[in-house]
Amino acid sequence: MLILPCPWCGPREETEFACDGEVSSVSVDPATASDGAWADALHNRTNRKGMHREWWCHRRGCRQWFWIERDTATNQLRNSGLPGTES
Ligand SMILES: [Zn+2]
Repeated sequence: MLILPCPWCGPREETEFACDGEVSSVSVDPATASDGAWADALHNRTNRKGMHREWWCHRRGCRQWFWIERDTATNQLRNSGLPGTES
């Protein structure tokens, strides 16, 4: 069982959380991008193996969002932070 450190509630079981995928920054201007480029920016992720940052919501707890660095191969957790500190 993966234990995630909610910044507000402390360590909790993974089943209390929802993952919203990797932290990314949209680098495409929606005013000038083609439909395909915009769809790619919104929906496609790298899905890499190894350490990366991803968004989590403590859905069955405080309902707050935070990011965490997690290794997708080992589930090792490293750093975490609040929205606005993800870049
Ligand atoms: Zn919480």
